[in-house]
Amino acid sequence: MSSSTKIIAIDGPAGSGKSTTARMVAKILGFTFLDTGAMYRAVTLFALEQKVPLLDAGALEQIASSIQIDFGENEDGQKVFADGRDITSDIRTAEVTDAVSEVSAHAGVRRHMVAKQREMGDKYNIVAEGRDTTSVVFPHATLKIYLLASIEERARRRVIDFQRMGKITTVQEQIKAIRARDEYDSRRQNSPLQQTRDSIAVDTTKLTIEDQVNKIISLFREKTRA
Ligand code: C5P
Repeated sequence: MSSSTKIIAIDGPAGSGKSTTARMVAKILGFTFLDTGAMYRAVTLFALEQKVPLLDAGALEQIASSIQIDFGENEDGQKVFADGRDITSDIRTAEVTDAVSEVSAHAGVRRHMVAKQREMGDKYNIVAEGRDTTSVVFPHATLKIYLLASIEERARRRVIDFQRMGKITTVQEQIKAIRARDEYDSRRQNSPLQQTRDSIAVDTTKLTIEDQVNKIISLFREKTRA
């Protein structure tokens, strides 16, 4: 991170509201939104399409090093492109979600993604969200947030997300899937999900999106007030 850019880094478990919150905070402040999870999902999508075994570290690293990931915005939200192809909805399928933790656990994959993320942080003011943005990617971020919510609430949000994509699932199914992914992401050796000591915890269980956005904006303003 160059000293001239400002970074808000937001980490937290699956379904804690990171993407929606980060995107809105970025919009209000005029910052660039960096969805690091989408990048790991892009590598996972390519691996599944190319039938690369999820344990093949070399082949996965090769994908991570060569893939060109770009972000765009339209009125529906963020668009994600890989090698020029619009993969916005392809990266949100259950198949990608089920495989992404295994892919993102590889150190070689992470090295390439982190390098791309830091490049963006050198150029732009950023609101980044993911699992290691406060610990590894941007350890000197201007503001660090750890977003959390009860597992029931996070599962309920996921059921609604899937409903919008036309997929019917239950809260119980989502509790199971989220728990498995959180455990995998928290226990892995490389850059596990953790709350760093200098992160401010924000529990979103009972907050509206507007509440959480306003909270983060006011924490940022407090931090940057001369
Ligand atoms: O946030 P999202 O659900 O899109 O993240 C998908 C997965 O990508 C996570 O479960 C995690 O395995 C991985 N990830 C990561 N590091 C990040 C962001 C996401 O390992 N910074």
